Amino acid sequence: MSETLLEADFGAGHVKDVLANAGVYKTLLESTKAIPWKLDWGSMRFAYIGPQIEALLGWPQDSWLTVDDWASRMHPEDREYVVNFCVAQSQAGVDHEADYRALTKDGGYVWIRDVVHVVRNDQGEVDSLIGFMFDISERKRDEEELLRLHKELEQLSLTDGLTGIANRRMFDRRLETEWDDSRRSGKPVSLAILDIDSFKQYNDLHGHVAGDECLKRIAGVLRDVARRPRDVVARFGGEEFILLLPETDTGAARGLAEACLSGIAGLRIPHGGSQTSEYVTASIGVGTVVARTDDLERGFVEAVDRMLYVAKSNGRNRIEVLL
Ligand code: GH3
Ligand code: MG
Ligand code: MG
Repeated sequence: MSETLLEADFGAGHVKDVLANAGVYKTLLESTKAIPWKLDWGSMRFAYIGPQIEALLGWPQDSWLTVDDWASRMHPEDREYVVNFCVAQSQAGVDHEADYRALTKDGGYVWIRDVVHVVRNDQGEVDSLIGFMFDISERKRDEEELLRLHKELEQLSLTDGLTGIANRRMFDRRLETEWDDSRRSGKPVSLAILDIDSFKQYNDLHGHVAGDECLKRIAGVLRDVARRPRDVVARFGGEEFILLLPETDTGAARGLAEACLSGIAGLRIPHGGSQTSEYVTASIGVGTVVARTDDLERGFVEAVDRMLYVAKSNGRNRIEVLL
């Protein structure tokens, strides 16, 4: 079909001339960006490699003698996997492709996609491999950029926009992990739920912008209190925060909650409409458990939240601990 089309374009005689002229193929192969090569399977020697290889990697065309030249000019992290994969596929007679970083003469790396066709002899044995190497650096750079953006997006989706601390989604994830850990290790896990007192009046009197500023400063205090690597400080809701404190017993959790209240007091943020203090204060519910097989973390969070409610009804600016 394609030959018929060609004949229509150029005339049958002309096509025959072209097909007869191996020089035309050579010119075509050596002027494309893909780099052609042929490896003799018996001797593992290159029968041919396109001259474009020198422009891409810097190694001259005549320096590609054996399969070892190929393997040794590969990033050490890619080498074992790629060589094993290509050898296994070739032995099985399966066409294949592999991406790897090829070493350049000046010591850099270029991402290559090698597309390999296995040629068999009349007996069906592998005779040689022929293939094309493609420079895929640009595509890899795009992929890496995409991965970086993906990670950034994930980070953003787990962070609270206003305060920069963890958001509720992040807290939920981490609670699940720490809950399982507590089950396995038998170690206690504590929660402290903190809610700013009379924050509606604060906003009404001092404005929302000041309210936002207040939330940010309090988040900073909490972050300074819960400093262990596995501690999580999250914004749980509007003016509510939660501290996840792995491997922390009741006494230690209470101590940290006290540090939160004194840190907030230390900010001395004037509050014109609070019955509790002339400064901004908060109330905290604290609880500790060793998670058991059939305990649900939701039930625990609710129990600690009820302690926050008790702290509110007992006069605010205080801590109530689940016993
Ligand atoms: P209580 O002492 O019982 O906790 O009373 P409260 O006024 O703090 O509680 P309430 O739930 O009545 O009001 C919470 C207020 O928190 C209402 C809302 O305006 C404010 N708030 C919630 N999220 C934000 C926020 O992102 N920025 C600002 N500035 N205010 C917020
Ligand atoms: Mg609240
Ligand atoms: Mg409140």
